[in-house]
Amino acid sequence: MLLAAAGAFLPIGFALQMSWSRAVALEQQSLDNQAQRILKYTQGMLDQTVEVLRRLNAMRIDPCSPQHVRMMQTLSLQERSIDELAYVADGHVRCTSWGIPEDQARLEPPHMYLKSGAALRLDAVPVVSPGLRMVAVRHGDYSALIEPGRFTQLTPADGVQMALVLPGSGMLGSHNHPDLMLVAQALNGGKLDVEEDYLSAVARGDDIAVVLLEPASEALSSLRRERNLWLPMGGMTAVVMIGLVCWLSRRRLSLAGELATAVSRRELAVHYQPIIDLRSGRCVGAEALVRWQRPGGKQMRPDVFIAIAEENGILPRITAEVFRLVIRDMEELLAVDRGVHISVNLGASDMKDGEVLRVLERMLLHTSIEPRQIWLEATERGFMDVDTAGPVIAEARRLGHAVAIDDFGTGYSSLAYLQRLPLDSLKIDKTFVDAIGTDSATHKVTEHIIGMARSLNLLTVAEGIERQDQADYLKAREVDFGQGWLYGKPMPAAEFIKYYLRNVESTPPPQRMPGEGAPLAA
Ligand code: C2E
Ligand code: MG
Ligand code: MG
Repeated sequence: MLLAAAGAFLPIGFALQMSWSRAVALEQQSLDNQAQRILKYTQGMLDQTVEVLRRLNAMRIDPCSPQHVRMMQTLSLQERSIDELAYVADGHVRCTSWGIPEDQARLEPPHMYLKSGAALRLDAVPVVSPGLRMVAVRHGDYSALIEPGRFTQLTPADGVQMALVLPGSGMLGSHNHPDLMLVAQALNGGKLDVEEDYLSAVARGDDIAVVLLEPASEALSSLRRERNLWLPMGGMTAVVMIGLVCWLSRRRLSLAGELATAVSRRELAVHYQPIIDLRSGRCVGAEALVRWQRPGGKQMRPDVFIAIAEENGILPRITAEVFRLVIRDMEELLAVDRGVHISVNLGASDMKDGEVLRVLERMLLHTSIEPRQIWLEATERGFMDVDTAGPVIAEARRLGHAVAIDDFGTGYSSLAYLQRLPLDSLKIDKTFVDAIGTDSATHKVTEHIIGMARSLNLLTVAEGIERQDQADYLKAREVDFGQGWLYGKPMPAAEFIKYYLRNVESTPPPQRMPGEGAPLAA
């Protein structure tokens, strides 16, 4: 259910998040473009004005002569952005494009200088209409007046606030009443300090900076478009994910059902993999490994179906079935040769209450097998809860079984918890045997694990020995037993018995029998 919910919500959440961030990114891009366009327009206007003033300065003409005034008039008419041109000498306006003024006004000092060297004043008073305030740009002997509204003729999209800033000097113009605090923050490049998210764009020219502000909610129109694009994809992925989860869980549930039926119909089998005394080469027993041949002939790997059995509470029945098969297959051999043992795997759930031990005790009651001939092994996962596993191990040993920790080194084991558990032996996982003869870091751990087992007085069994050099290495370090393809793969009972008899003929009896080295209860 959780997986299905995650499968549904994650893609849809992702689609929503994606459409929002895409919408915001698109809106931001549009804002940046607008700011650049407006900057080009306003800075262009200033540059153009300075260019006209430069041309005038370069002209040789009698100041304030009728031709001079006409020339200024023509130029101010030609340049749509210039409203008035004035000739200035000794800080006074001598004549303008309107003619020679009666009152030769004194020029106010500039507010700032432009990059081009021209001076700029924001609130110059035109000679002909003193009620107005104009932007004055002065270069050399000339001054141009520009009506401030001209700078804001090019406006951004609806809902966008604009400020045309002359950094350090003031504002050339604005549109839509921008919040001046936010304008300052945007100019400083900081995060905007407002509850509602704003998008901002800043474009900087030689003299002017254009600041645009837009509430992020304005991105909503693009959001709708993006959502129409992303939501169907998210929805489709959600449907596929839910379908996949349903299919997987039905398959697992039906597999669990099939497995339960197979147990009832006694369709499971057990194969036996020889365990060898490394010093003498003698076979001292076998590990019982369950096999499930599904209808149709396909074998399913035990670690896969054991996990399903564990999840669905079928494992105790499988463990009991393995006990039954081991007794059926091996009773005769075990009765004849007391030095042989069979190791049976327990799952994590078997380690919880020890119920399997009572099942095994009842089964062994009417057989000639001695309990010490049945070893039990469980992975670290089974021992994780020390408080419940401890008493189960103690009970198993009281009944006479030896207990091993399987796949040692692959889980969470620590020396501290190993010391707290009354174990008999430790099975070194195949990964550490594989590392022998390599220069990987794991190789060093192999050495360490062997040392640790010895210091805890545990018997050691190495799993997955495939090559002679691995066997030699382990033998040199006094590892007690070995198991692996080098000696034999897991095989049906009859084959194992033949293997065993052949092996016994060609090897001396081991000096140390399984169970003797371990602190087994008598
Ligand atoms: P395990 O208990 O660690 O068993 C050893 C596994 O290593 C077996 O795989 C064995 O076939 C394989 N093996 C042994 N020697 C070699 C070797 O030299 N090379 C390679 N590549 N592999 C080797 P298998 O039979 O597939 O079993 C896998 C796991 O399934 C077992 O690991 C055990 O955890 C679980 N399992 C098997 N039978 C039972 C059972 O009856 N009950 C429970 N609870 N678990 C079982
Ligand atoms: Mg095992
Ligand atoms: Mg193992």
